[in-house]
Amino acid sequence: MNAEIIAVGTELLLGQIVNTNAQFLSQELAEIGVNVYYHTVVGDNPDRLEKAISIAESRADFIIFTGGLGPTKDDLTKEIIAKHIGKNLVEDKEAMETILSYFKRVGRIMTDNNKKQALVIEGSQVLPNEHGMAPGMFLKHESHYYMLLPGPPHEMNPMVRKYGRPAIMDQMESLERIESKVLRYFGIGESQLEVEIEDILDAQTNPTVAPLAGDQEVTLRITARHRSEEEAKKMIDEMEKKVNERLGKYFYGYGQTTIMKELLKVLEAKKLTVAAAESLTGGLFQSEMTSVSGVSTMLIGGVVCYSNMSKIKLCNIKEETIEKYGVVSEQCAIELADNIRLKLGTSIGISFTGVAGPDPLEGHPAGTVWLAISFEDRPTKSYLLNLSGSRVGNQKRSVKYGCYFLLKELREDFTKKADDSLL
Ligand code: ATP
Ligand code: MG
Repeated sequence: MNAEIIAVGTELLLGQIVNTNAQFLSQELAEIGVNVYYHTVVGDNPDRLEKAISIAESRADFIIFTGGLGPTKDDLTKEIIAKHIGKNLVEDKEAMETILSYFKRVGRIMTDNNKKQALVIEGSQVLPNEHGMAPGMFLKHESHYYMLLPGPPHEMNPMVRKYGRPAIMDQMESLERIESKVLRYFGIGESQLEVEIEDILDAQTNPTVAPLAGDQEVTLRITARHRSEEEAKKMIDEMEKKVNERLGKYFYGYGQTTIMKELLKVLEAKKLTVAAAESLTGGLFQSEMTSVSGVSTMLIGGVVCYSNMSKIKLCNIKEETIEKYGVVSEQCAIELADNIRLKLGTSIGISFTGVAGPDPLEGHPAGTVWLAISFEDRPTKSYLLNLSGSRVGNQKRSVKYGCYFLLKELREDFTKKADDSLL
């Protein structure tokens, strides 16, 4: 089902008022799963309004009008629609009572043109106006639905919420709704991700799959239109399975989660403790971890060992390791991770050593980073990153990768699928 919104009013075209009604209606319609493909604005002109109606009929199921339901001569929306579809205007008793009681209450004389506001298109469902006089209307003619709403937002908004939306939903035979789920990936760029699932993206109809990149991550939003929640969940689950058969090794969580949050969940569940030795990240890993409350049982502590001397003194790195391999080396990273774990007696030790930039170090370009993760119960793992970004960017990405590798290592479902040559 799709809709077009036609806002009627010369004031809109002159720029005297902003078309906030279209924005409001679009949001309301999106929530009930109606796609809005066009916004039209037309002045208070009979011919142009009728043309706009014909165009909308050629491309929309629901045509929603706002404005032009008032008492004055330039208010002509319902007159033109009635003429266009060959229907009469008839008096609505309730609307007339509302108008009469309004004038009685305020003690003003009712002029004849006010009666015009009680006229509705025959056969339409009347949408009561609880904050004004002109009622709204909803009707079906041939294959189209027409909804007429008053212009003033304080009249229209409550009318839409209370009567308009339910009326549309009743008509959407199937009561089509939208359900969606967000999948989060790390370690894969948006373009590579798109290539991996190109055929799925090309073939998508329902559910739809939409990639979005940002903050070094890619997310996929799977959206299903459905008649029942159960049906939607099934459709989404099937699509998720299909997508993750290819992308599973990069997948780390759903919705609003972060890699750090996922990591902490696993550490907590497995009752594991962590210590860190950080050179180029300058403590960022520990800082990010401590930004989440309740980590004291998981993060025991660590050191910032930025200089060679501190690596030797605080982490017992062998001088010959530094002499032979340098500090930007797999050997140095492994020793750092092993030693900090042993020193603090934790289940896991993690280390970060490399070149934050912008200048090269030991002949390695900026962005060359070695990470190592030391475990009580299995061999130490090491990882090489070749990042390209600003100094702070490289530090942030190093931390994110560190969390990601550790998460991958600790999650059983992950390690089964995981490919260590991720980079
Ligand atoms: P009235 O009974 O007040 O004449 P109406 O249904 O005839 O209502 P209009 O005359 O077109 O509506 O507009 C009345 C007022 O409603 C405008 O002056 C403006 O303040 C507001 N309005 C109309 N259309 C819009 C719109 N598209 N977006 C935001 N405000 C609007
Ligand atoms: Mg008006």
